[in-house]
Amino acid sequence: MSKRVRVRFAPSPTGGLHLGGMRTVLYNYLFAKQQGGDFVLRIEDTDQSRYVDGAEDYIFNCLRWCGLEPDESPGKPGKFGPYRQSERKPMYREYAERLVSTGHAYYAFDTPDDLDKMRSEFKTDTNPSPQYDHTVRNNMKNSLVLPPAEVQSLLEANTPHVIRIKMFPGEKISFIDMVRGEVTFETSVVDDKVLLKADGMPTYHLAVVVDDYLMQITHAFRGEEWLPSAPVHIELWKHLFGLEAMPQWAHLPLILGPNGKLSKRDGAKYGFPVFAMNWTDPKTGELVKGFHDMGFLPEAFINLLALLGWNDGTEQEVFTKEELIAKFSIDRVHNGGAKFDYEKAKWFNHEWIKKSSGQALLSHVNAQLNENGIEADEQILIKVIDLVKERCTLLTDFFEQSAFFFRDPATVDLSPIKPKWTEDKKIFFLEYCKRLKSLTSLTSADAESIFKLLAAEKNIKPGELQLPLRIMLVGGKFGPPVFDIASLIGIDATCARINRSLDLLSQN
Ligand code: GLU
Repeated sequence: MSKRVRVRFAPSPTGGLHLGGMRTVLYNYLFAKQQGGDFVLRIEDTDQSRYVDGAEDYIFNCLRWCGLEPDESPGKPGKFGPYRQSERKPMYREYAERLVSTGHAYYAFDTPDDLDKMRSEFKTDTNPSPQYDHTVRNNMKNSLVLPPAEVQSLLEANTPHVIRIKMFPGEKISFIDMVRGEVTFETSVVDDKVLLKADGMPTYHLAVVVDDYLMQITHAFRGEEWLPSAPVHIELWKHLFGLEAMPQWAHLPLILGPNGKLSKRDGAKYGFPVFAMNWTDPKTGELVKGFHDMGFLPEAFINLLALLGWNDGTEQEVFTKEELIAKFSIDRVHNGGAKFDYEKAKWFNHEWIKKSSGQALLSHVNAQLNENGIEADEQILIKVIDLVKERCTLLTDFFEQSAFFFRDPATVDLSPIKPKWTEDKKIFFLEYCKRLKSLTSLTSADAESIFKLLAAEKNIKPGELQLPLRIMLVGGKFGPPVFDIASLIGIDATCARINRSLDLLSQN
């Protein structure tokens, strides 16, 4: 029987979640759901110096907003907990010690000064920042060179020390990446990474391997920035748990911005969001904009993310989450960088807004109206949304497109009408209001037929009267079909707005 598929997203709570991180979440999620497996969220907070307050809650909120809820997480523990690495601290030392006893790791007692000295001593033109590796380790203070008795007494005296992996030079390490195929590394260029720090905390390298093993992770999608760490992880798997137990990896290509790797700075420079949701750095107060706050629907966000590096081989671009779960395949994940195009991102959002019902968009639009002091009747608002959604690319566009249905426009720009304004047109609008007032309710068809009939009677082209009507009702040259507007705002508001504009026109 094959093993149950279990994937994990393992963020470090160090700040906002950018597009690349969210795409990693999504691919893990889609794969797990397609295989009927589990999607685990593990918080990798072993580097306390990089821990940022609020970052963990922020990650949960982003996942919740996108509807990518984990099956197991710190807030929803399963049987493999705890799900925060800082709470798993006592579990790791035993594995590091096991590696020491089998000769694959060693104790290192070097002080920060010793390390600085090593860096300046071994620095050359071709190697400006030497690493702690097989070329220098024999000159350092570690259990590979110190006599065993001395090592023992240093340990007994609780001398601060770390445990480092011992890389064996001159070997090749390979693995099959699900996206890239076979990837090979030369061990000679890999340094002896710290596995356990002086404070007893594991580093990422040890913790990720131990936890992927203990949590029975079978597949892991992660960013390609982790590829250089793969040989270290493979060595740990080999010597701790056996390579057969190692998850299958997919290292996902970078997301590219206008100038190479997409960065926060690109967002600020070009005015597009880079994070899933707004993120304010608690230390600097710097705000990085998020898709959520810029007016994206979560359906559109995951759709555009999915296509940053994957397609289903057809022309289809708009996919529901269910379709993505059914169609996602690792074979079709590209191994080259995926270029982020904000105009295309907005296109996805526009498609999703058009696809969504007035009812589904109601709460988003209502919230914007409420923030601006407008209490809209929900039934009317649903109709308004259906009428204007074609014109909205971002959710934030709804306010301008719908506020005038519920309150008189603050200003009316009559300048496009003025040059051709005549007394006959004024008489037309006065008469139009009179006829509307004789009705009890107004359909869009009635508003239009009365308008056209009257225009014919007065011998004015209806085309010359429609722009004035639109500007009178809306305040400017925009909005959905004008008779739909008249019908929705009703007879009283239609006539009041017409009269207000007639007054303004007669004032000058
Ligand atoms: N904690 C790592 C990160 O912050 C996880 C890398 C991995 O998935 O192995 O991205």
